[in-house]
Amino acid sequence: MLHQYMVNYTCLSVISVLHEQFSGSHGTLQEKLIHHVYQQKAPCSRNKISIIGAGQVGMACAVCLLNKELMDDLALVDVIEDRLRGEMLDLQDGGLFHKTPKIVADKDYAITANSNLVIITAGVRQQEGESRLNLVQRNINVYKMIVPQIVKYSPDCIILVVSNPVDILTYITWKLSGFPKHRVIGSGCNLDTARFRLYLSEKLGISPSSCHGWVLGEHGDSSVPIWSGVSVGGVSFQKLNADIGTEHDKEKWNTAHKEVVERAYEIIRLKGYTCWGIGFSVAELCETMMKNLCRTHPVSTMVKGMHGIEHEVFLSLPCVLSSAGLCMVINSSLKKDEEDKLRNSAQTLYAIQKDLKDLTP
Ligand code: NAD
Repeated sequence: MLHQYMVNYTCLSVISVLHEQFSGSHGTLQEKLIHHVYQQKAPCSRNKISIIGAGQVGMACAVCLLNKELMDDLALVDVIEDRLRGEMLDLQDGGLFHKTPKIVADKDYAITANSNLVIITAGVRQQEGESRLNLVQRNINVYKMIVPQIVKYSPDCIILVVSNPVDILTYITWKLSGFPKHRVIGSGCNLDTARFRLYLSEKLGISPSSCHGWVLGEHGDSSVPIWSGVSVGGVSFQKLNADIGTEHDKEKWNTAHKEVVERAYEIIRLKGYTCWGIGFSVAELCETMMKNLCRTHPVSTMVKGMHGIEHEVFLSLPCVLSSAGLCMVINSSLKKDEEDKLRNSAQTLYAIQKDLKDLTP
């Protein structure tokens, strides 16, 4: 097992209690310095998050989580031991500046025990020009090793899936874990929506937090921009421009969605991978759950029975997250073409999923 970092402010050496508390000049420096009032037997973390996969995305998630101060215990798991230990030591060096007293890393899942939240970013990443769906078989094999270990050590946790293709891997995690659907969530279109709102923001000169809009459906190429819901300051864009989002729109607002889809490919072409956008976006989701904020997010959930979807597939809809997981789905009032696109996404995913075998827990 790799070295585990434990700055344990309250749990100090049991040996020291055997010594006289006021041993004057005979005690160690520690004994002379500290008068114990209460000896905590074992360090108990109240908020624990584990990240499986300490690659570019996993580490970006770790840094964004540390900056938000959401946990007192962070565990990292990966199969490449040297790099994992290096990342752990590097994060620990920030101990004076962040407020997460325990950071551990190992390839053994025992270190993830009793996590509130487990984030899976492990797997192979897209190559330049490769679609997310192409990744599926390679990452399923990785997930078959990971998910049973998470369940073994944290049977009550919420699992947040980030690896691609995220909607299918969320379905696979749900099947392999045997968890109820409210405890298996895909990061889904949370990042796509952030990119969409950024586009609106840059076009209008208004903060993305004030430009409201949703991208739903599959994370990736067949995602669906919900133009009927785009608004700023309570003013619906569709009321101002009935053609918005369509080919007939003279102002070509539908470029927004094309750019959202292209953006990941562009970043991968330029730097080889994406990490910061997804890191911030995952930290936002974790904040909602760890602080029980009940905010709405476009994340991937099991959508059978919604919007005319007949199969067990995971797609993004506006969902309310809490400390219990994904507790509500908002019934979006979608236009017919938006709902058709959502059903197409579902069909695309089902076509891949239906042939997958051996997904029992
Ligand atoms: P990466 O190659 O840098 O990291 C992947 C890590 O997973 C590596 O460190 C690898 O050693 C580890 N790994 C592989 N098999 C493992 C196993 N069995 N157990 C534990 N760890 C294992 O890749 P990355 O850039 O960090 O991307 C990770 C995933 O995130 C990819 O699937 C990528 O497509 C996805 N991603 C998703 C989004 C999103 O919006 N959902 C955004 C960006 C990237």
